[in-house]
Formats: sequence, structure tokens, C-alpha cells
Amino acid sequence: MAALRRQFPILEQCDLHYLDNGATTQVPRAVLDVIVAHETSHRANVHRGVHRLAEAATEAFEDARATMARFLGAADKGEIVFTGGTTGAINLVAHAFGNRLAPGDEVVVSLLEHHSNLVPWQMLRDRRGVVLRVLPITGEGRLDLDNLGRVVGARTRLIAVTHVSNVTGAVTDVARVVEAARAVDAAVLLDGAQAAAHGPWDIPALGVDFYALSCHKMFGPHGVGVLWARRERLAAMDPFMGGGEMIRTVTLERTTFADPPQRFEAGTPPIAQAVGMAAAARWIEALPREACHAHLARLTGRLIEGLAERARTRLIGPAGLQARMPVVAFATAGIHPHDVCQVLDSHGVALRGGHHCAQPLMDHFDVAGTTRASLAVYNDDGDVDAFLTGLDDALGRFR
Ligand code: PLP
Repeated sequence: MAALRRQFPILEQCDLHYLDNGATTQVPRAVLDVIVAHETSHRANVHRGVHRLAEAATEAFEDARATMARFLGAADKGEIVFTGGTTGAINLVAHAFGNRLAPGDEVVVSLLEHHSNLVPWQMLRDRRGVVLRVLPITGEGRLDLDNLGRVVGARTRLIAVTHVSNVTGAVTDVARVVEAARAVDAAVLLDGAQAAAHGPWDIPALGVDFYALSCHKMFGPHGVGVLWARRERLAAMDPFMGGGEMIRTVTLERTTFADPPQRFEAGTPPIAQAVGMAAAARWIEALPREACHAHLARLTGRLIEGLAERARTRLIGPAGLQARMPVVAFATAGIHPHDVCQVLDSHGVALRGGHHCAQPLMDHFDVAGTTRASLAVYNDDGDVDAFLTGLDDALGRFR
């Protein structure tokens, strides 16, 4: 794994133990090189010019779509819609799918959701009179799937839940969610923001209908992401935003729309970012998957054990390593997470402290916020050691 770490220029340059990967991962040299090469040799707008640069840019952009289709196991690249990220993808569905719902129809979310997968549904509720039902969670911060039967019913049209929690690290048992949805003919959306870096995934095989991800959490650039949706779902949806590139014909009176995925890509897309995202996906595909998972599980175990050994810390999430990703959040009795993060920063350890865009979850656990250490494949034992040393310092300073 040391060789992997050396591929990340920022980790070489900054003397930093970067444990804020749940917020944003770093970018390897191979991906940076692809972005620079695109911008230096192929920069042009896509789908509109006939000169050679425009054609090269369009080809690179559409190749990126094909790569993302492969990365997610999509049937074809027409199922890949480029978005600004997970938030953009979920808002797209909340409008394009949500606007077809009738008052009284129900959308199921969970207590575990990032605000990105809660607020758009609340806005839909207020816009359309749709009813929002909330799946509870277990004591260790997993979806309480035994209670699915209580919240999923005949009026459920969509279940929108996280694939991996950005707070507890819990991995959703998607098969049970899909089973409950199918029983009432509802669709399933998975928020894949925290799962994408651990791919490639065969998303269609999971049985879901929509999948949202952000590239900046999977070793690529900011400002781009993907909505994957089954072809028939996309075909049944009206556009979310209007503008250039999403049209077939326009007169002053009316417009007819392009087929998906262009129907959902109004305006100039993030072109170099999409090309960079494909490079990031290829970089992930080339990783030794089993070895990476074992490495991350071992480091996650060390973090969890370290917390268990220290008084005044409380893990918010499963203590076991089964169905769990390397996201470790904890509360510290009598110390605000921002203070913990500040002390750790003085040890060169980058963490995240706060509500993690999951305020209802914080309320549920009765904490103002938590401190979160989240790992990526380039992290090592030295990072965990520095974290534990810094944590001891923070716990000692605030008595
Ligand atoms: N969902 C989850 C689970 C996340 O962790 C995040 C980001 O932290 C998001 C959604 C939002 O992602 P973005 O801000 O890239 O749209």
C-alpha cells in the first residue's frame, strides 16, 4: 500500500495524515495527468462543434460515459447521466420522477440520510403533497429493516436510502430494501456517495432503479457525478432543467426534448471533470480489490479498538466489521468535535467534526455532532497511530 500512497502528490507534499476521505478523497497523479492532458490538447465544448477539437472533446466525454457505465455495471452508456454530484443526481430524480407523483403518494427515506437525500424529498413533499415516511435505525446505526413493513405500503412509490452511511459507515442490505419495494411496485434510489470509492459495483444486479454518486469521493475531481438509472425509468421522466443540449427542436412556442441521457444534461457539462472521473474509475478498477478491502478493514478495526480503549469516547456506528465501510464517527463526552479536530490538526491529522449533514441522526443519538475519521486505500498504520496520539492529547487537554 506504500506504493499506492506515493501516487498521490498531495500526500507527498503535505506532511498530513488525511483522514477526511468521507468528505473528499485525494487525487492520484494518473488522474491529474489525464485532466491536464485533456485541457491542454482537447479542450472544446461537446456535442456542438464540427472542428477537430470539438470532435475530440466529444469523443473523450462520451468515452467517459462508457467507462462510468462499465464501472457501475450499466446495460449501456445511455443509462449514465452526468450531474454535478450526488446532490445534483438526487435533486434530478426528486424533480423528474417526483413530479409525476400524486398527492398522497409516499416516499420512504431513513433516519440515516445525508441532507442530500432528505431535503430534496421534503421539498417534493411541500411541492406535491407527497407523504414522507421515515425508516428508523437500529442502536448501532443501521437501517432497521425489520421495520420496513411498517413504513412501506401500498402508496409507496419510492424508497430512497443510503448505500453506505457517511456517519455510521453501515452498508445497507440492499436486497431486503429491493424486496420490500418490489412487493408494492415501488422504485429504489440508492445514495452511493460513500460507496463509490469501494467499487466497481454491479448496480443493476442490486435490483435498484436509481444510483447517485460524486466523483470527488472516488479519487477524482470536484463538480461532477453520475446518476445511473434504468433505461425505462429515464425514458419515462420529463426533463428537470431546460436549456441547450437537452432539446430536439425549439420554436418560440414549444420545445421537444432529446432522448435520455441528453434530456437531463442541460447546458455545458463538466467536460474535463467527466474525463477525469473516468480516469478515476479506471484507477479504482485496477486496484487489488480484496487486498484493499482487507487493508481498510484492518485499519478500521484499529480505529474502533482504539476508541473502545479510551474513556469518554462513544462510537456512533457498528462495532463489528461486517457490512461496514471505513467511516468511524464518535462522540467525545464534554468536548466539542471542533475542539477535537483542532487539537488533531495540530498533530497533522485531518478529521471532520460536526453534524456531517445528518442533523436528524445527531438528534437521534442526542449529540451536537461527532468527530469522524474516514479512510481511503492510501491510509496506513502511521495515520492511525497519529490519530490515536492526537486523540489522547485532546482527551487530556479537555478534562
Ligand atoms: N450523500 C452522502 C452519504 C454523502 O456522504 C454526501 C457527501 O458527503 C452526499 C450525499 C453529498 O455529496 P455531494 O456534496 O458531493 O453532492
